[in-house]
Amino acid sequence: MGERGVDAKTYDGHTGLDVSIGSFRNMDRGVGVYAVAPGTVMRTTDGNFDRNVAFLPGCGDSVNAVYVTHPSGYYFEYLHFKKDTIAVEPGQTIQAGTYLGEVGSSGCSNGPHVHVELRDCGGAPIDPFLTGLVLDPPTYDAPMRLFEVTFRATPFPSADLATVFTQAAPNVTSVPVATTMGFGLTLADGIVGDTVAIEVRRGDGSRFDDLRGKLTIPYPSSVWFWNRTLTGAPGEWTATIRLDGEVARVVSFEVTGDAKARAKASTLEPWVPGPGEGVAHPFPPLDRREPASPPRSAPAQR
Ligand SMILES: [Zn+2]
Repeated sequence: MGERGVDAKTYDGHTGLDVSIGSFRNMDRGVGVYAVAPGTVMRTTDGNFDRNVAFLPGCGDSVNAVYVTHPSGYYFEYLHFKKDTIAVEPGQTIQAGTYLGEVGSSGCSNGPHVHVELRDCGGAPIDPFLTGLVLDPPTYDAPMRLFEVTFRATPFPSADLATVFTQAAPNVTSVPVATTMGFGLTLADGIVGDTVAIEVRRGDGSRFDDLRGKLTIPYPSSVWFWNRTLTGAPGEWTATIRLDGEVARVVSFEVTGDAKARAKASTLEPWVPGPGEGVAHPFPPLDRREPASPPRSAPAQR
């Protein structure tokens, strides 16, 4: 939405605006969804599974959702809520900013996000950005930002990365020598030429590696990963994450063991780069059009 042609950050058949929160870690922390405009709640659905990472058969029937009619007759859909978090009821009058519930991944969704959609009185989709309905529009080509850090005690696989990153298990805090560790980042936005880097320093301060990448196409969101076998001085290691040269976060982890064991293991088992390593992988589209149409009748009176 907001642009047409090659500049558009959209995909065919998607008539809403997706706002991603990057991972289930963030969903578990709880991220609120607030109404973007006033209206009357027409219908809600809740109680459905909320950690989908793929589009399953019949997924459109298992979405947790809020449907709101605006006084103009236009109506809004808010989709994919976290289970049992919807805080409004049919017939309720809401205002812009009313808390609706929490972001989830119910229904036809492959990661936690909220889908907001606006339709006119005839049911045709409206782009609120192209039609000037957004009071304070966000920057369309936003600077690259760090969503999530995913450091693992095992290498990243080359397949099903979206699931691996979306699940985002807790970061490793202590890892033995000679472990092949996965260094992963989830980024939001970014334009051609943006750079990402992780400078990894050992316990003695010496530089272990400088992992780097550069955007060659713009991404709404992307995941980046490097697999490296740890060698050198144990102790408290630090990874300094930079986006476009600016420090975005510093993460530390403990490396245990002695240097001789590490050197031996490293020599015997040289690490071989995995397919696609260090390359940006865009997430697939976050959802698809719900097969079920929103209700058009007046809300039931309570
Ligand atoms: Zn969507």
